[in-house]
Amino acid sequence: MTALKGIPSAPTARQMLPPFTAEHEELRESIRRFVVNELRPGADQWEEDRWFPDDVFTKLAAVGYLGLKYPVEYGGQGGDMLHDAVLIEELSRAGSGGLAAGIGAHIGIATPPIFKFGTEDQKQRYLVPAIAGEKIAALAITEPDAGSDVAGIRTSAKKVDGGWIVNGSKMFITNGVRADFLVTAVKTTTEGGHGGISFLIIDNGEGVTSSKIEKMGWHASDTALISFDDVFVPDENLLGEVDKGFYLIMANFQWERLVMALGAVAAMQRLFEQTLQFAQERAAFGRPIAKFQVTRHKFAEMATTIEGGRALTYHALRLHHLGLDCVQEVTMAKLATQRAAFDLADECLQIHGGAGYMVEYGIERAARDLRLGPIGGGTDEIMKEILGKTMGL
Ligand SMILES: Cc1cc2nc3c(=O)[nH]c(=O)nc-3n(C[C@H](O)[C@H](O)[C@H](O)COP(=O)(O)OP(=O)(O)OC[C@H]3O[C@@H](n4cnc5c(N)ncnc54)[C@H](O)[C@@H]3O)c2cc1C
Repeated sequence: MTALKGIPSAPTARQMLPPFTAEHEELRESIRRFVVNELRPGADQWEEDRWFPDDVFTKLAAVGYLGLKYPVEYGGQGGDMLHDAVLIEELSRAGSGGLAAGIGAHIGIATPPIFKFGTEDQKQRYLVPAIAGEKIAALAITEPDAGSDVAGIRTSAKKVDGGWIVNGSKMFITNGVRADFLVTAVKTTTEGGHGGISFLIIDNGEGVTSSKIEKMGWHASDTALISFDDVFVPDENLLGEVDKGFYLIMANFQWERLVMALGAVAAMQRLFEQTLQFAQERAAFGRPIAKFQVTRHKFAEMATTIEGGRALTYHALRLHHLGLDCVQEVTMAKLATQRAAFDLADECLQIHGGAGYMVEYGIERAARDLRLGPIGGGTDEIMKEILGKTMGL
């Protein structure tokens, strides 16, 4: 592929950008080959089926991609968050937001708390098989009556001899149907507010009922409503400390939001490249549509949006990688990229004309998929609330 003028850091002409090193760029090449050869060919069918096969996880595990950031002793590759960041960026090339979401939920939000807060026994029973692609994971926090207001969850865990009895329901859970286990936020006291939230690792078995919810985009993923009916969870499945689960949620959110920002920038880049090529080939009134000033300006604006989003996201990623406080930067990166990606997809759709509205080009799917961005992982409005707080407002 040729370099894209005006977008020096475009992956097609990728220069090495800190914090990425030559090793990350080598990994990028391998992942890209995997995505193009193993995932992209199935994506259209999986979107139509509204389900991608579970063996995607075993295939990813076979090449080590489910454990890039985890230590070798747990079956991982001994890398770090940056290796996962490369995977997240490249997954956008599969052309299915739902597929990326299912994989992302497993590696990006459901297994990290087990690695960070889990006991050795929990790591052996859940993290090791998750890295091996033998068990699929989901993170279950949101409820029918509590989304943005995480502290308002009501799923209860009542202490009994040897464990907990869980009752309640969870809403919009990615991988919620196929998951073998659910990293679940529960209330362990009747205390209101942030206190009294704990995490339990719940096997998807007796007393757990999941049903798939139909949605606007992310068609290949299973988003579920889950109910817990007197589910017994043994003591050894308590993740982290009792009543300290809110801390776990907040710690997890930073990586989830970074992952979403990385994914959005990568999606914007892919849509930009596809649309630029289209605009250079499609002619109207005797010239390529790219030659109309209005189209040129659209590309200028989109390129600027992508560069801005990427710069902010990589800045937040660098801070996160260094272990520095980066709540403000991560929040800004998510806020700056999610609505922008949806708007950019819409602009690309417009440049495609009628073709953009057709399924064949994948632009309408991208637009539907990207609409989730300003909602999932904390809405745009909540991002602004967090930023206001970081400014003392
Ligand atoms: C496809 C999909 C997949 C998801 N996957 C998961 C998952 O795997 N695990 C999981 O736990 N959750 C998941 N979610 C849930 C997601 O995180 C929530 O949808 C999101 O946090 C918003 O919560 P809500 O839908 O309850 O909206 P609400 O909290 O009810 O918000 C409704 C509206 O009110 C606004 N609002 C709320 N509070 C304020 C405020 N203080 N100030 C200003 N505006 C406010 C919101 O911004 C929003 O516009 C998923 C959601 C979707 C759609």
